[in-house]
Amino acid sequence: MGKPTGFLEHRRKNVAYREPEQRLQDFREIFTAPDASHLRNQAARCMDCGVPFCQADSGCPIDNLIPEWNDMVYQDRWRPALERLHKTNNFPEFTGRTCPAPCEGACVLGIIEPAVTIKNIENAIIDRGFEEGWVTPNIPKKPTGKTVAVVGSGPAGLTAADQLNLAGHTVTVYERTDRIGGLLMYGIPNMKLDKAVVDRRVGLLRDAGIKFVTNADVGNNVDAEQLRSEHDAVLLATGATLPRDLDVPGRQLDGVHFAMDFLTKNTASLLDSELADGNYIDAKDKRVIVIGGGDTGTDCIGTALRHGCKSMLNLELLDEPPADRAEDNPWPEWPLIMRTDYGHEESAARFGQDPRRYSVLSKEFVDDGRGRVKGLRIVDLEWTKVDGRWQMREIPGSDQVLEADLVLLAMGFLGPEAYLADALGLDRDASSNYRAKHGEFATSQAGVFAAGDCRRGQSLVVWGINEGRGAARAIDIYLTGSSTLPAPKIDMGVAAG
Ligand SMILES: Cc1cc2nc3c(=O)[nH]c(=O)nc-3n(C[C@H](O)[C@H](O)[C@H](O)COP(=O)(O)OP(=O)(O)OC[C@H]3O[C@@H](n4cnc5c(N)ncnc54)[C@H](O)[C@@H]3O)c2cc1C
Ligand code: SF4
Repeated sequence: MGKPTGFLEHRRKNVAYREPEQRLQDFREIFTAPDASHLRNQAARCMDCGVPFCQADSGCPIDNLIPEWNDMVYQDRWRPALERLHKTNNFPEFTGRTCPAPCEGACVLGIIEPAVTIKNIENAIIDRGFEEGWVTPNIPKKPTGKTVAVVGSGPAGLTAADQLNLAGHTVTVYERTDRIGGLLMYGIPNMKLDKAVVDRRVGLLRDAGIKFVTNADVGNNVDAEQLRSEHDAVLLATGATLPRDLDVPGRQLDGVHFAMDFLTKNTASLLDSELADGNYIDAKDKRVIVIGGGDTGTDCIGTALRHGCKSMLNLELLDEPPADRAEDNPWPEWPLIMRTDYGHEESAARFGQDPRRYSVLSKEFVDDGRGRVKGLRIVDLEWTKVDGRWQMREIPGSDQVLEADLVLLAMGFLGPEAYLADALGLDRDASSNYRAKHGEFATSQAGVFAAGDCRRGQSLVVWGINEGRGAARAIDIYLTGSSTLPAPKIDMGVAAG
């Protein structure tokens, strides 16, 4: 720890986003570039406490060496900070931009003061690394002659590919869409994670020797059993892409879409033609309702606002979270509190109020008589705790129709699609995920492994990296009998080196 009085002298200050009205004019990243003294002061707030909970099991899922690189940033030693960061995190530029930062929820300083801005510092280290040209491909030392197919190119698949390639295996990544990156590419929108940042990393992986095949839908246009027979091991990292639907009258109406259709088409059109081709669901001049909170809902809000929607409402089934931690949600657990994300802030700037409305049940989409949605019938709910469990009750007489021309369903995901599991004869668990134990990552079929959202259910980028590293180690052991690949210890079923 560089400065013993750091947290007494400096208040927490996040790296600022661009002003909402300014950033709403484009799809460029929302972040501003922090200056070196800002970062130094914020890094100085880390006290390298004896037991850094930020690295323990409710903190960073990939064991990032947070106090070490905080100290190095304070000392202006950026290159060693980058080396320490890359020891545990293959893609800090993804987590530095998108991670909700469970580490900050577990930060010891957070007991008495706002936590250290860990995520901002992580992002600054990797951005500096790229600016300086310090980030280079991870070239393997010695080929093993073993081949691995990775199916799916999200954070779990890319991480595993990077690690397995480093161990000397010949790795090919198969992706069913036209671009590599999974939800980093078609999911999280450009303003939160610039697609050039994803492409830059994919370029490094390619330079390191990993092969990528796009438009390769394994189980459809690529035979799954053949792929298996042609490789020594197969890793499934296909994500949890089956969206939760809202099965109420009027669901078939025009103007009701899954959030992922809206977000994916927008990014594809943006990258293909700067939205000039019109191949996207346009929210311009529409009254938009987004059903469901979470990152997906926020991203829909931000995207619709950038199209120039006429109004914005975000409905949530659950009750409004508390402003501060509830008694049954103590430190160092992830704080379940009210948070205002970039999309909510932008909506408030555009329309003068927060778009969120809580404790609302959607009952019916209303037809305009021509097969298009013109409204959403809702009812307010009351939530009460009975025998320790939350129960909802519709409030009599609270029925209402909200006007809408575009409704986006952002209610989470059920699990992976079934066709690949069926083609390979894989066991699935009660949540329909591919069955495989964390730490072992082996499915019910020999030589077939699973990692990321398809194994654990819809999660976070940082958990994709955790699982990708763990699965790479497990596959390396399967192929060679041992492994020097490191893997996060959190949630691990086998010892990691
Ligand atoms: C809109 C949205 C916003 C999000 N925002 C955040 C955020 O801000 N921060 C955060 O930490 N997390 C966020 N998440 C969650 C995070 O993106 C995921 O948890 C993470 O990407 C999962 O990684 P993965 O590698 O397991 O799968 P994915 O990223 O889903 O990648 C799976 C890939 O497999 C491909 N695939 C599927 N089946 C096949 C097949 N049969 N053949 C070939 N390819 C196939 C898919 O096309 C996809 O590209 C967000 C999720 C969504 C939906
Ligand atoms: S990856 Fe996420 S949890 Fe880990 S240090 Fe970075 S921001 Fe924190």
